[in-house]
Amino acid sequence: MRAHVIAAAVALFPHIMSAQAKPIVIHADRMVDGRGHVTQNATVVVDGTKIKSVGANGAPATYDLKGMTLIPGLIDAHSHLTWYFNRQGRYHAGRGDNDTPVQSMLSTAGNAYATLLSGVTTIQSPGSPEDHDLREWIDLGQIPGPRVLTSLSPIQNARLTPDSMRAIVRQRKEQGADVIKIFASASIRDGGALTLSQEQLNAICSEAKTVGLRTMVHAHSVESIKASVLAGCNQIEHGVFADDATLKLMADHGVYFDPQICLVFQNYLDNRAKYEGIGNYNEAGFAAMEKAIPTATEMFKHALKTPGLKVIFGTDAVAGAHGRNVEELVCRVQKGGQSPIDAITSATSLGAEALRMGDQIGSIAPGLQADLVAVQGDPTKDITALRRVMFVMKGGKIYRNER
Ligand SMILES: [Zn+2]
Repeated sequence: MRAHVIAAAVALFPHIMSAQAKPIVIHADRMVDGRGHVTQNATVVVDGTKIKSVGANGAPATYDLKGMTLIPGLIDAHSHLTWYFNRQGRYHAGRGDNDTPVQSMLSTAGNAYATLLSGVTTIQSPGSPEDHDLREWIDLGQIPGPRVLTSLSPIQNARLTPDSMRAIVRQRKEQGADVIKIFASASIRDGGALTLSQEQLNAICSEAKTVGLRTMVHAHSVESIKASVLAGCNQIEHGVFADDATLKLMADHGVYFDPQICLVFQNYLDNRAKYEGIGNYNEAGFAAMEKAIPTATEMFKHALKTPGLKVIFGTDAVAGAHGRNVEELVCRVQKGGQSPIDAITSATSLGAEALRMGDQIGSIAPGLQADLVAVQGDPTKDITALRRVMFVMKGGKIYRNER
């Protein structure tokens, strides 16, 4: 269906696709391939939307990225592009501020553009039906943004029967969801305790598996993570209170773990006045987030030491954080003790594997999508180089070039 729509668009508007007549040759001082390898003086040849070759090439460079490091476009496994601050400088919480759906969508498009320019070429968005159209408009090339994968609306209501939850999973599949998002615990602002039963989680994650969809679960407490893993769910979000046994359980089951230790909390604290007074953004909620930073950072250090645990990069970016996604990677290295190269791998090839797109994105290798980002300096020595994005290409099309 989507392929059909895109094919029709290409026939009508060939200029919107980045059909380069001849290959683009990119030289960079160094390249991090996304799979843990670093090459000095790298050459990458891009033909159309894909990477044609990597390595020595006699052709003169179309783009000579001196002083820069080429990395794969980053993958953020958890970003909320529809969250924004309205013109009154307040968080747009869905209703009550009189913003129209069109105005909200324009802000969403702005967030998508800011995210792409910051070097993030793919995001996974849990929880917004608006993503359906956002994904399509970006795919059509009508607006600039990262590739979007979406859960559409999440499954959250604990009063639903397991059978009705199964029905919602099938409905999401029909509606075009890429993944199923589940809330198995309360928000960190409300303590993070288990909210769904084992039976309910079993129903959702087994039905999703049957229809070929991955599952990502919001879970903070030990009980909520355990129940989700035992239900066969694929990806755990947040996990602030995960202990060593729970981290090991995730590793043993091959579950992807997407913790946050910095950006999401710090962004709320920095923008407190813009959120304060809305829902659980109250005094107790902000106190809980302040307290969560050291707890999550300590938990993250244990996660890194857990053999075989697949820790991926997801920011949970909300209003105020879009375009600053790499700050979470900077924190993971500077405060969480992750090595820069592992941090980059978590946000590239490992993230792609979690999305089951490892054969399309997340590495600089022949045949993959030409999602390429160049940063000033060497992020394997100084992770803050990720803040200095000079060049962004997605699917062979250049969106940023500040050489
Ligand atoms: Zn979230």
